[in-house]
Amino acid sequence: MNQTDSSKAVFARFSRYLRHFKIPFVAAIFGMIGYSLIDVFVISQLEHAIDRSLVQGDLDYLRMAAYLIVPMFILRGVFNFMGTYTLSWIGNMVVMQMRQQLFSRFVHLPVSFHDQHSTGTLISKVIYDTEQVSVAAGKALLTLVREGALVLGLLAIMFYKSWQLSLAFLVIGPVVALIVAYVSKRFRMVSKNIQQSMGNLTTAVEQVLKGHKVVLMFDGQEKETQHFEEKNNHNRQQNMKLVVSRILSVSTIQVIASVALAVVLFISSVPGMVENLSAGVFTSVVVSMTMLLKPLKQLTTVNSEFQKGMAACESIFAILDQQEEENKGTLKPQRVAGNIAFKNVTFAYDANGENVLKDISFDVSKGQTLALVGRSGSGKSTISNLLTRFYQPQSGEILLDDLPLSQIELRALRNQFAVVSQQVTLFNDTIANNIAYGLEDKVSRAQIEEAAKVAHVLEFTETLGNGLDTMVGENGLMLSGGQRQRIAIARAVLKDAPVLILDEATSALDTESERFIQEALDTLQKNRTSIVVAHRLSTIENADQILVIDKGQIMEHGRHKTLLEKGGMYAQLHRMQFTEGA
Ligand code: ATP
Ligand code: MG
Repeated sequence: MNQTDSSKAVFARFSRYLRHFKIPFVAAIFGMIGYSLIDVFVISQLEHAIDRSLVQGDLDYLRMAAYLIVPMFILRGVFNFMGTYTLSWIGNMVVMQMRQQLFSRFVHLPVSFHDQHSTGTLISKVIYDTEQVSVAAGKALLTLVREGALVLGLLAIMFYKSWQLSLAFLVIGPVVALIVAYVSKRFRMVSKNIQQSMGNLTTAVEQVLKGHKVVLMFDGQEKETQHFEEKNNHNRQQNMKLVVSRILSVSTIQVIASVALAVVLFISSVPGMVENLSAGVFTSVVVSMTMLLKPLKQLTTVNSEFQKGMAACESIFAILDQQEEENKGTLKPQRVAGNIAFKNVTFAYDANGENVLKDISFDVSKGQTLALVGRSGSGKSTISNLLTRFYQPQSGEILLDDLPLSQIELRALRNQFAVVSQQVTLFNDTIANNIAYGLEDKVSRAQIEEAAKVAHVLEFTETLGNGLDTMVGENGLMLSGGQRQRIAIARAVLKDAPVLILDEATSALDTESERFIQEALDTLQKNRTSIVVAHRLSTIENADQILVIDKGQIMEHGRHKTLLEKGGMYAQLHRMQFTEGA
């Protein structure tokens, strides 16, 4: 698609947002045109005011004008309100809609999308780009209709009063059009750069705010400040480019228009060139021409404003066009028994990249515990990511109760799992609400308290002012790693799902708490299938199966005892931990 085609498509899509606002839209246009027509009417009366009243002495006309002028300006105010208010209202509605759509996209997009896009850029799209659409498109429309009507009206007066004088103005039309075309192209490009640099700015801020402790520890203030300064400056430069194009185009066009005015003045100065040139006609034409300069100036930037809006639209639409998480499955099992099978699963995060899992096969029967051990980066968490269908394997199949995962509806699928993952995410809410996240209307307060007790959350909430109703702060900033992990475990306890995935669920706990919680987890693991990732091998000695994974491949498979006797990788890992412990 070439540039014009794509901008047409973007515009067509944008106009669909306006479809619901037909009536307000018509009202807005009516208001804007009415506003300009009043201005035009006032100018059109100049000839009479001068020639009849002042030159010929018919003062009644002036008196009538005196009575009419105030009501007319009141009407002008009403029109202005109608046009501007309605337009802003539509604009804000569109912004709200776009924000909502973006947000809901973000919520529904697959994990792989979020892996590839920085949070800052995405935030900037919701906050900045949507605003750009409304401001730019609103301004463009306001100028186009209101100033357009004014220009047409003034031109009509000029030609009506003296077409000979007005011809000069027509000559400059094409020149103005050329300049406008050039400037808009540049505007679109620069606007895109600005959007990108806004995204970069947000990303930079976000990262430093999130990682401020690292910045403090590694003395990164200078570096980050400088880094931000570069981006900040780049943003400023891009904005200045926009300003320069605007100023230059406006001034050029005004100079061209002044040429037309000069021609008019010159023609009028030549005796006999124009017949019947009365003072009133002359004044009307010259005033109209001067009045034309301002709306003309605004009309030349109309396209650029509009381009700015369209560039923002394009960036928003690009997100809205992203494929949502695939959810073609139709099966909705209420509660599975918990048989899990991996059949020759091969997976790479990046379709062209290296395989992170290679030909993985195993079976776990309901109620069993499968332990995954292996070095960091070997692919343990990836297995749990595939089970919850955050990603889909490139080849092979995963079955849950003999149903292929892809045939199960996503929500029904994820309801079958309770996951305590390596990174605990907490929401800026109370501890109780964090434990009950997503289950608010299904569980009672007593159940939440019970889960909190089992996961030893009550132990530390007792000392807090509001107990379970204490706010945890953004992402649980006010809690220790072990405390956060306990909340995550309480979540899993409360969810009571048939399959439990524990990815280093107790790694942040001290040995004593770990023992208590391990007991709780052991109880929880009874009667349900569990997949446990643990570095501390002592916690998995009783597992029904142990998979030793290395570089995405299963190296060993068996029970604790057999693997020890085999004297392979597992035995070696075990030996190392044992000597460490001693
Ligand atoms: P650890 O014990 O450190 O948690 P792990 O066995 O859980 O390690 P995985 O998280 O499964 O390891 O990662 C396996 C490999 O996949 C690693 O090499 C990692 O670089 C890569 N990887 C993990 N997550 C992603 C991702 N979102 N995008 C691309 N590659 C990833
Ligand atoms: Mg991991």
